Amino acid sequence: MSYTKRVLEQTIAKNPGEPEFQQAMTEILTTIAPYVDSHPEYEKAGILERLVEPERVIMFRIPWVDDEGKVQVNRGYRVQYNSAIGPYKGGIRFHPSVNLSVIKFLGFEQILKNSLTGLPIGGGKGGTDFDPKGKSDNEVMAFCQSFMTELQRHIGADTDVPAGDIGVGAREIGYMYGQYKRIANNFESILTGKGLTYGGSLARKEATGYGLVYLTDEMLRQHGKSFKGASVVVSGSGNVAIYATQKVQSLGGKVVALSDSGGFVYDSEGIDLAAVREIKEVKRGRISEYVNYRPNAVYTESGSGKTIWSVKCDVALPCATQNELHEADAKLLVQNGCIAVGEGANMPTTLEATEIFLKGGVLFAPGKAANAGGVATSALEMTQNSMRLSWSFEEVDEKLKGIMVSIYNNIASAAKEAGHEDNFVMGANIAGFKKVAETMMALGVV
Ligand code: NDP
Repeated sequence: MSYTKRVLEQTIAKNPGEPEFQQAMTEILTTIAPYVDSHPEYEKAGILERLVEPERVIMFRIPWVDDEGKVQVNRGYRVQYNSAIGPYKGGIRFHPSVNLSVIKFLGFEQILKNSLTGLPIGGGKGGTDFDPKGKSDNEVMAFCQSFMTELQRHIGADTDVPAGDIGVGAREIGYMYGQYKRIANNFESILTGKGLTYGGSLARKEATGYGLVYLTDEMLRQHGKSFKGASVVVSGSGNVAIYATQKVQSLGGKVVALSDSGGFVYDSEGIDLAAVREIKEVKRGRISEYVNYRPNAVYTESGSGKTIWSVKCDVALPCATQNELHEADAKLLVQNGCIAVGEGANMPTTLEATEIFLKGGVLFAPGKAANAGGVATSALEMTQNSMRLSWSFEEVDEKLKGIMVSIYNNIASAAKEAGHEDNFVMGANIAGFKKVAETMMALGVV
């Protein structure tokens, strides 16, 4: 049995009941197998056994008091996965579906993603099963303060620098940073995605969505295609989806559908982003409310049998959550003439659906490359904080664009070198792995 296969089997056996983690492991270890197995020095140094095992897993209690005076308890996680190339870096997710499997899969993906950015950042991820939906501002603040009261002892500007993710935006980062500052009595850059008045970077909010579109655009361009005149479906309507939509529109594409966990809206005339931003960013409302702004749009509820992927499009950008695009959806997209998929979310496409895209000749940019613009700009925020300087929006955006184009070139050439031209899943996994593995070799058995 090959080295990679053996480690994959051991890892799956050692982590039972963790389907998302096992899925990410299977995808990554299977695609890097030809590369790893042709380098016996990796086996000798136990690189894979060390890589699959997090350096540290922290699990903690988060007690807080709700508006009725009732004590609530949530569970918090921080997985400090791999610090070979820099301090742990990765977002914090607030969502009821969060468990150890989800945080470990995200943390493992993050190691390779951060490596692809070319910046000195290791991989980590955190979160909690707290659901901010329906909670008052006061409750969100109480929760964030309790979360940070424990987390603060494990993080630091040169140790671990979390950021936002699902359910964690400007409001939550502000409350967490405030509590950190109060406890630690310093202004260290221990979180990114901060507000502009206290150390945040211009263009960080836009970075994941913009970066996704920059990379997808480069992939299209290199194949003689572009966003101009293209019909685009974007799932989700949160941070990533909103700014991906904005960038697609600025490049002359037409976004015709957006969603949230309740359902999706289809607007044949093109999504009115101002309306979406009012619903989501101002009112914290549901995407179903979109039809009040655009009566010609059609809303379809989740569970009706029809998903957002039934909408005909040239380019699909899944930007909501993991495993939101299944085999049947992929078949439908291919049948409807979709030419490219760019993953804004982490692992939104199941293994079976990815296979359909690769076999169907659809250009497929995996999340760890396509959505790396967020973490890359977070690293730029850390740089600005260290220098005590703020760059202009244009300066950050230009750097982001350069990083995304270089990630594309890196994954494209890794795929080609591996003899699988245009298989960007393989290209991203190999290119991301290489830098981390080489560094782990250099640092010895630690
Ligand atoms: P937000 O919380 O801002 O938005 C998430 C969106 O996805 C919402 O519209 C939400 O709908 C929808 N969604 C969440 N869970 C589900 C579900 N189970 N089924 C259907 N829809 C769902 O998060 P972000 O935009 O920040 O993150 C989206 C994805 O992008 C995640 O996979 C995240 O890990 C990834 N990502 C984010 C980065 C960032 O910088 N923010 C960086 C890199 C990756 P609802 O409100 O109904 O729950």
